Amino acid sequence: MTQKAVIISCGDELTNGATIDTNSAFLSRRLRELGVAVIRHVTVGDDLERLALAIAAAADEASIVILTGGLGPTLDDVSRQALAAAMGNLPLVEDAHSLERISRFFVKINRPMTPSNRTQALLPAGAEALDNDWGTAPGIAAQVKNARVFVLPGPPHEMTPMFERLVAPRLGGGGAIAYRTLHCFGQGESAIGEQLADLMHRDQAIRVGTTASGGIISVRIAAGGADDAQAAASAQAVADDVRRRLGDLIFGQEGQSLSAVVGGLLRQADQRLAVAESCTGGLVGQLITAVAGASDYFLGGVISYADQLKGKLLGVTEEMLSRHGAVSQPVATAMAEGAAKLTGADWALAVTGIAGPGGGSEEKPVGLVYIALAGPAGTSAWRYVFPGDRDMVRLRCALSAINHLRLALLAEAHKSG
Ligand code: AMP
Ligand code: MG
Repeated sequence: MTQKAVIISCGDELTNGATIDTNSAFLSRRLRELGVAVIRHVTVGDDLERLALAIAAAADEASIVILTGGLGPTLDDVSRQALAAAMGNLPLVEDAHSLERISRFFVKINRPMTPSNRTQALLPAGAEALDNDWGTAPGIAAQVKNARVFVLPGPPHEMTPMFERLVAPRLGGGGAIAYRTLHCFGQGESAIGEQLADLMHRDQAIRVGTTASGGIISVRIAAGGADDAQAAASAQAVADDVRRRLGDLIFGQEGQSLSAVVGGLLRQADQRLAVAESCTGGLVGQLITAVAGASDYFLGGVISYADQLKGKLLGVTEEMLSRHGAVSQPVATAMAEGAAKLTGADWALAVTGIAGPGGGSEEKPVGLVYIALAGPAGTSAWRYVFPGDRDMVRLRCALSAINHLRLALLAEAHKSG
């Protein structure tokens, strides 16, 4: 059985927005690595009663509760008292070992120990102190109902090493979780969600979810199992199912970017790419060259923002421009063919469009984009109207262009293989 955890952060500085809760994010990442499923983050101000309630509620839901913050020496820090309350109103007792360590800490830093530091040696009766080598406040390990509760100091430079040394080794062992992420391009999140609807029902052991970012939809899969191998096998089986359903909508997995995948295909085919960009002003080239080693397959291109340059460097004619306008299929096609001719590349991608916010018309609205791709089997062109602001239109346009190249490279590889 996969273990469940709740993470609680405590402090007025968190609820009032002065400090960002980085502790919870850190702990979630680490628990994920340890095969523990984090089901909830809770943030509570410096409020004894609310914190005691939060600890008790967390212990009802999860077998592991980690609380950070509220262990300071001042009156506003109430995690000790709240834990004692959640344990059934147990008294706080002074822990001689912790008091000795706190005294020594003050000798070491050559500062007098104040009476309030003495309160940091208080623990709920029956709880265990977690030695803090990075500050004064010891952490606390205790049992609340069926949950193991760990309380750690709020400062990240104390919390993180204490978690690694004293808490992480006690977790895990109760099963494993494996994760897979598949990245898609070419359909919206809802369309992809509909094709995976039966897998995405929330009440099943294997969780499948989607997230959208900049036109890329990522399918996240999390599967539990008795051990790493079993969890990985379950996650893989679902990933294979998702791949069968979504086919070449999926361009990559885990940390792979669309440009890296396309770069890999170009390298495999031993072919070169050039670009001719208008509305994206170089963004296609930027995305392609964000991948190390892009010089193996990327020649460069023309940022032909002005009509003059479309003519002078790419061979777009006056006649084409006056008859169809710069944002048109014939011009996109001529730009792609012109870039291929100019550079000698095997593939040339061209984009021309209206990124907005101005410059749109009834016939040619903001977001209208033509993408053309010249390649070994001729030139193709596509028309899109992208939603969103200028940045979004430009990004979608660049990614769509790169994705058309990916699909064309796959088709070519299929033909020759
Ligand atoms: P405390 O243990 O409550 O005295 O926390 C002391 C300091 O640790 C706070 O003033 C914050 O700067 C920092 N801190 C506490 N909780 C968090 C958190 N969840 N994420 C990041 N920093 C925190
Ligand atoms: Mg605090």
